[in-house]
Amino acid sequence: MFRGKLYIDGTWTGDLLDTFDVKNPATGEVVGVMPNGGKAEAAAAIEAAQRAFLKWRKYTAAERANFLMTWHDLLLQQKEEIAEMLTMEMGKPLAEARGEIEYSASFIRWFAEEGKRVYGRTVPASAENKRIHVQKQPVGVVAAITPWNFPAAMIVRKMAPALAAGCTFVGKPAELTPLTAVKIVELCEEAGFPKGVVNLVCGDAKEIGEEMTSHEHVRKLTFTGSTAVGKLLMKQSAGRMLNLSLELGGQAPMIICDDADLDKAVAGVVASKYRNAGQTCVCGNRIYVQETIVDEFVKRLTGKVVQLKVGNGLEEGVHIGPLIEKKGYEKVKAHVDDAVAKGARVVIGGKGQEGNDSYFYDPTILTDVHDEMLVMQEETFGPVAPIQTFATDEDVIEKANGTRYGLAAYFFTENYARGIRLSEALDFGIVGWNDGAPSIAQAPFGGMKESGLGREGGQEGIEAFLETKFVSIGL
Ligand code: ADP
Repeated sequence: MFRGKLYIDGTWTGDLLDTFDVKNPATGEVVGVMPNGGKAEAAAAIEAAQRAFLKWRKYTAAERANFLMTWHDLLLQQKEEIAEMLTMEMGKPLAEARGEIEYSASFIRWFAEEGKRVYGRTVPASAENKRIHVQKQPVGVVAAITPWNFPAAMIVRKMAPALAAGCTFVGKPAELTPLTAVKIVELCEEAGFPKGVVNLVCGDAKEIGEEMTSHEHVRKLTFTGSTAVGKLLMKQSAGRMLNLSLELGGQAPMIICDDADLDKAVAGVVASKYRNAGQTCVCGNRIYVQETIVDEFVKRLTGKVVQLKVGNGLEEGVHIGPLIEKKGYEKVKAHVDDAVAKGARVVIGGKGQEGNDSYFYDPTILTDVHDEMLVMQEETFGPVAPIQTFATDEDVIEKANGTRYGLAAYFFTENYARGIRLSEALDFGIVGWNDGAPSIAQAPFGGMKESGLGREGGQEGIEAFLETKFVSIGL
């Protein structure tokens, strides 16, 4: 069993606090314990981060990049061990966990480089004896709150750009999956980051969140999680006018046009829909297939889905692990039951398996689906593919955009003109055209509407941790 600790000001701490258990969602077994931190720990971490910021901001970008690259190399060296920990606390198949560690490392590498390209600019002045400089500076102490579905990637995607920009960091991972984050922060210590630059707290989310949004030394809050908690944190942040990045829920449409390459479309839907047992914010949630090809598409998709094996993610050959907890399982069940009660047909799946404090759901395909069903209205966060048909692009664009969310959308067509029109018409921050898995370190990831604010990755990803200063110089 793993005994995690909090990391504050370069010291592993929290021994005197009570603890909470971390369970393996595939078996219900306790795999680790963590100290139950709160306001006092959050405040201590923020104050340590503020002291460290005054020094860390003065390192050169190249020096900071060296720390990041050492951390990157350690992460890849310990990929296997951390991936196992990730699967044990979160449930995803080991192959996906390994992929998540590689994906996380790719963000460290990208931002280690990008930190060297934080350019200001000079602007022509309006008088001979004046000069205008625009400078970029680190925003200050960054507080980060992350979810359970990507226990490594979500925290690294925030740490790497923050540290590269010259900010210091206080992270709070989800209580369901804090152990991977502890491992990742251990590697920061090993990489030699100066004390206080990276801090990790965990425990009472509400209390820690309140401290992070009210403490005078926090300048930026970056959050990934539900839209409801995102809105709450935005309200709390108003008092201190915090710089905010919010990655919230999605309701991703996937559109399969009659001129799609069906094999590509099926592969894209399988990748987007069933990865992580459907528990990602960019998962396809609503599938719209043009009516003339729906039978062939469903046949081919079913042919792939029937091969997906459900089980403990640590076992070889498993494609779909457990759902994270009972609450998530009940939601998936409720969505499928509601659809069936309203006339949907279960092509495959449609049932779950409850173990001893573990909850699995079979990969499911539903047809004869309509807009009044919960599966078409809310994020299911499970391995359920509801399929509706459409006739014209105008209709499907209206349906796709008819949501308060705007994170990811996908479409499949081999017709470039149609593809360009669709990509322009969809009100989503990420659009996959013949691509079910677009996320990558060098591109901006984030949502429109109630899916959030700001972007992670790409040039935008470091910009989110920078302030702009205009310096007017009189000669
Ligand atoms: P999910 O539905 O994915 O669990 P949440 O938004 O509930 O999404 O959780 C995402 C993160 O937000 C987790 O780290 C969780 O502990 C944290 N969280 C939940 N409620 C609050 C809150 N009131 N204040 C601050 N953080 C919170």
